[in-house]
Amino acid sequence: MAAKWNGKSLHQLTQKQKRIDGLTVALHELSNLLNEAQKDHLSELGRILDRGPDDIVVGNWGCGDSPIGLCVYSAALGGEDECLLCGEPSERK
Ligand SMILES: [Zn+2]
Repeated sequence: MAAKWNGKSLHQLTQKQKRIDGLTVALHELSNLLNEAQKDHLSELGRILDRGPDDIVVGNWGCGDSPIGLCVYSAALGGEDECLLCGEPSERK
């Protein structure tokens, strides 16, 4: 790669590009780790609930009856509708 472009030094630009490349790789690796952790979490939750990890969807509502403190829905019903543990609907006002 040329060190200059139209007489201007490319050192700073090259350094910044390398930084972006490094951060992109790190982000990709973290994303893979996050995906693995989420799969592992769902597998463990599924084991506790006697369901497959692909059969459950974790919601955002707090749930006093849930082992993770969040409502859990059946994925088989398209992520519908009532929490498997407390029975509250996923759509609430
Ligand atoms: Zn619930």
